[in-house]
Parts: sequence; C-alpha cells; structure tokens
Amino acid sequence: MLQENESDNPNGFSEELRAGRTVFMEISTIRILILDDDPFIRGLLSRMLFRLKYTRVTAAESGKKALEIVDLPVGAPDLILCDLNMPEMDGVAFVRKLVDRNYKGSLILISGVEDRVLETAERVVLAHGIRFLGRLQKPFDHRALEKLIGKWTPSVNGVIKKSISKIYSPDEVRSGIENRELILYYQPKVELITGRPVGVEALVRWQHPKDGMAFPDQFISVAEENDLMDELTRLVLTEALGQARQWNDQGLFLKMSVNVSMDNLKSLDFPDFVAGQTAAAGLAPEQLILEVTETRLMQNSLSSLEILTRLRLKGFSLSIDDFGTGNSTFSQLRDIPFTELKVDRGFVHGACCGNPTLMAIYYASLDLARQLGMDLVAEGVEDRDDWDFLRQTGCRMAQGYFIARPMPVENLAGWLRQWNLQRQDLGD
Ligand code: C2E
Ligand code: MG
Ligand code: MG
Repeated sequence: MLQENESDNPNGFSEELRAGRTVFMEISTIRILILDDDPFIRGLLSRMLFRLKYTRVTAAESGKKALEIVDLPVGAPDLILCDLNMPEMDGVAFVRKLVDRNYKGSLILISGVEDRVLETAERVVLAHGIRFLGRLQKPFDHRALEKLIGKWTPSVNGVIKKSISKIYSPDEVRSGIENRELILYYQPKVELITGRPVGVEALVRWQHPKDGMAFPDQFISVAEENDLMDELTRLVLTEALGQARQWNDQGLFLKMSVNVSMDNLKSLDFPDFVAGQTAAAGLAPEQLILEVTETRLMQNSLSSLEILTRLRLKGFSLSIDDFGTGNSTFSQLRDIPFTELKVDRGFVHGACCGNPTLMAIYYASLDLARQLGMDLVAEGVEDRDDWDFLRQTGCRMAQGYFIARPMPVENLAGWLRQWNLQRQDLGD
C-alpha cells in the first residue's frame, strides 16, 4: 500500500497547530516524495516537512512503490528525499531508474552510512545530471532539512537551466571555425607566495553571429567527434602564441598555457607544427605549456606517448589538467614527462572546506607533484579561504575566479594594474 500523505497524521502536527494557533507562514506547493524503508524516518520526515509548511508530501517504503508514484499521470514529484540503504532496490539503483524516466525534479540523499559512500552516490547523481540539493546524514534535525529544501528552485520548463545552453551541430561548428569566429579569453595564473602573475591559460570562446558568446562545453566535444580538433587547436595555438609575443614586446613575460585534445596527439606532425609556430612567433619553447585533460589520458596510445615525449624533448612544458577526475596511473605519470599538475577545482574547494576525502586527494596530489618534480597548480580558487588554505599547504600556483575570471585580451592590462595594487594584502 502506498503511504499517501503521512503528514496528515495528527501526531505530526506542530505544537502551534495542535494548540489551534494560526501560523502565518506561506504553505508550499512543492510536491515532495519521501523514499525510506524505515517507517520511523518516514514519519519523522513527514512531521518535519509539515512543520516547515510543506504539505504536499507522499511517502513510499520501497523503490518500486516510489516509481509507481513517479509514474502517476499527475507527473513526477518536484523533489525526492531518497534513502540510500534499502533492501531490494537501493538508492543508487533507484536514481538509475529516475534517469531512465528523464526525471527533471530535484533530489536529496539521506543516509546513515559513512560519508564516503554518500559521496560516491552523490557523484552518481551529479553524473546523471539530476538536480542535487545535498545530503542529509542521519541523525538530522529540521534545520538541516530546511536549509537543503531552501535550495529548491523550479526547473525551467522541466529542464535544468544549465542544460538548455545549445549544443551546436558539426556543420555549425565547422563553419564557425572556417569563418574565424573563435576568439580567445585569457585567465591569469599567479604564484601563491608572492601573488606574482606567472602565466595565462588561453580558453576558447565562440563569438556566434546570432547567439552571442558560446562556451567550450557547447562545441569542443562536437569538434572532437567530427575531426575538427586539428583545425581548432591550430587556430588557438597560432593566436595564443602571437599574443604572447605581443606581450613580450611590451615587456610582459607570461607563460602561455594552451589546452590540447587527445585528437591532436594522434597527428604525428603535431610536435613539428607546434615547434614551427613557436619559432615563427619568435618565442622560446619554454614559454608554452600544453595542457592535456586527465580523463582523456585514459585513451593513451603509443602515438600520444610518442608525441608528448617529442614535445617535451623540444622544450615545451606539459601539464596534466583536471587532475583527480580521471584514472591516470602511476605508470602514465612515470612514462609521460609532465612538468605541471593542475588539481581539479572540486578537490581544491572541497579540501579547503575540510572534507576529509577531498583533502586526502588534494594532499596526495601535492605530494605526488613534489616527488615527481612537477609544478602544482590549484584550479578553481574561488574565495579568500581557498587562497589562504593553498598558501598554507605550500601549493605553488593558483588559478580561479578569486584571482580573475577568463577575460578578453584588452582587459588584461587593467586587471594587472588592479591585481598588483591589491596583492600585498593577500600575504600573511
Ligand atoms: P580547463 O582547461 O580545466 O579550464 C578551466 C575551466 O574552468 C574554464 O572553463 C574556466 O573558465 C573555468 N574556471 C576557471 N576558474 C574557475 C573558478 O574559480 N570556478 C569555476 N567554477 N570555474 C573556473 P571554460 O573556459 O568553460 O573551459 C572549459 C574546458 O574546455 C577547459 O577546462 C578545457 O578542457 C576546454 N577548453 C577550453 N578551451 C579549449 C581549447 O582551446 N582547446 C581544447 N582542446 N579545449 C579547450
Ligand atoms: Mg586547461
Ligand atoms: Mg582544468
């Protein structure tokens, strides 16, 4: 039997309501489903929700029952509070079923299991693109619940806002490249101890004639799947090297980081192309850093190993990007002569917030970089706490919104002036 609206249970009424007092709080219309095999937790959550003025609450004791509710003709609930440990269908399997149903609502995970299991489940939810409001660790109180539900916002036409950004077709991307509509933004990278700007990362943008600015997640994977990366990277490299040369001429020496795709590391002439372009711009190879994303490194092949090694032999620096998100092995790190390791922003921010698992990964990356003689760059430094934490741990460089957002070339001089004025205040 479905346990419809357990919050109707008079035992769940708040003291004020039982005393017949009027409570002037807005009643929420969000439809909430509680999924937990434990009747005590279902009752407790229902009461808490009722006190918080969420009255459209349904509860189910198993994944199977919950799916029956999700499939009702009135439509799926707006929010599901889902337990992880349940007999038969566990929380992770239930999430999988939600994905199959194209669930557009939000989710809160509840569990009494250790933090790390909950974190893994959380990653599964996020990977599936479900809106995740957070987790409730048992035992919890109504304040924790209230805080999480407070994050709920209606989905836009049932679609998560971020995912409505348009993904372009191969033909559109091809013509964007051919029509020279790609431009570069630059994001500064600074030394943590001194605050000194040491380099910039070139990040591609597409100035679309009709849609305005488009971001890499809207076209890079399309370019990769349609053999367009060679052309894209060549354009980016040429532009970035030309820009570095212009800065050099003005007395500004910044290392230039350029992202390369695994596709580029399939063309055997790539090292010669890079060397040729660098020489044509009148730069030393030491000024260029090529970044390879760690997740892509898994498709490592003999040719990419060969190409990376040749690039290194020619004097270019190699950086392993988004470190911690992929599965690179020690042997890959040993075999490929990387000079720099960029820890992914997920670990930087998480470590700073005291999450023990993320902190362990951050410190392991720091150690690994030291042992292998690589420079460590922390990505995604978003606030002063991140900055202070990284300084204390001895990380060498940082990049992120706290320092500067990626910017068009004409804004860099202004940013430098401003940054040099304020960077003294960022010391001890
Ligand atoms: P990435 O190389 O790891 O670049 C860093 C991304 O994080 C950039 O996103 C940047 O805008 C963003 N970011 C920087 N600081 C912060 C921060 O403090 N907080 C947050 N939340 N984000 C921050 P963007 O420009 O959208 O680029 C996304 C990815 O697209 C890049 O990740 C890179 O993998 C790829 N990409 C960008 N340009 C190129 C390119 O020219 N060629 C290739 N192959 N890939 C590119
Ligand atoms: Mg990068
Ligand atoms: Mg990165």
